[in-house]
Amino acid sequence: MTDVTVIGLGPMGATMAATFLAAGHDVTVWNRTASKAEPLVAKGARLAASPGDSGELLVISQLDYQAMYDSLGDLRLDGKVLVNLSSGTPDELRAAARWVTERGGALVTAGIMVPPPGIGQPGAYAFYSGPEDAVDRHAETLRALGDVHYMGSDEGLAMMFYQAQLLVFWSSLTSYMHALALLGTAGVEPAVFLPYARETFTQLGGDGPMGFAKILAEEVAAGVYPGELNNLTMQAVGIGHAVHALRDAGVETTVPDALKALFERAAFTEGRGHEGLGTVFESIRKP
Ligand code: NDP
Repeated sequence: MTDVTVIGLGPMGATMAATFLAAGHDVTVWNRTASKAEPLVAKGARLAASPGDSGELLVISQLDYQAMYDSLGDLRLDGKVLVNLSSGTPDELRAAARWVTERGGALVTAGIMVPPPGIGQPGAYAFYSGPEDAVDRHAETLRALGDVHYMGSDEGLAMMFYQAQLLVFWSSLTSYMHALALLGTAGVEPAVFLPYARETFTQLGGDGPMGFAKILAEEVAAGVYPGELNNLTMQAVGIGHAVHALRDAGVETTVPDALKALFERAAFTEGRGHEGLGTVFESIRKP
């Protein structure tokens, strides 16, 4: 079994280290606050004296990329493969890859798509980008955390896919909270709306007439947004009513206001109200 060193023992890193231990790896851990290593040492991990006190493979999970710079300082990284699963911007990741290369190492960037309890569980996966040979060499070890999805050599790609997923996650769940708040003003319990929300989430990912994940992917690829059956003007007016309803109910409207502004810009300012909802994409990509 491969040696793996886990740098960063927040909820994510600590669970990763425990998962590698459970998979039978020799695990070394390092964290700025050393006391967080104690439960892992009790399970058989070795506490490194410094982050450089490691084998070839370093798995990093910290608040951001600055934490990696702060932790590694002036260390040489000759022959080491750093797999960083921390959050950052794609450009930060590209710059970090150059920084690691200058020190003799290789940086694999990654974005993991599960919270701590999901690590290593069925359905868990992470996006990886950077040097493919390094990913291939360590894929078997990394698979303990979840499936390995290699997205390409551009080090920014893993974070772009990660953020793409989070944009869908954050925005749809925020709208769900607006929905719960609106219904709550009429005394409707969240559990009453839950089956309907589930139906929408399921249908959006499906192949039926509400399967908009697939429909929009096809429309965006083709650059054609048919609006004969449900045009954007109708939907811009509809979201205006929804925002009005939220205001009347005394609920805050930051996100619905932004949606309304975007729909109105595409439909009225830019004159594509006769097209379908997908035409909003054209306004998004050209701000
Ligand atoms: P945190 O974001 O709380 O990570 C804290 C870790 O970062 C600790 O080990 C902390 O050290 C370290 N750290 C922060 N700043 C520095 C620094 N300047 N120098 C050295 N170490 C530093 O915890 P999580 O474990 O939740 O998240 C880790 C990463 O995983 C984040 O980038 C997050 O976006 C990502 N992520 C998180 C998910 C989640 O559900 N939690 C899901 C998917 C991804 P110390 O203990 O000393 O403070």
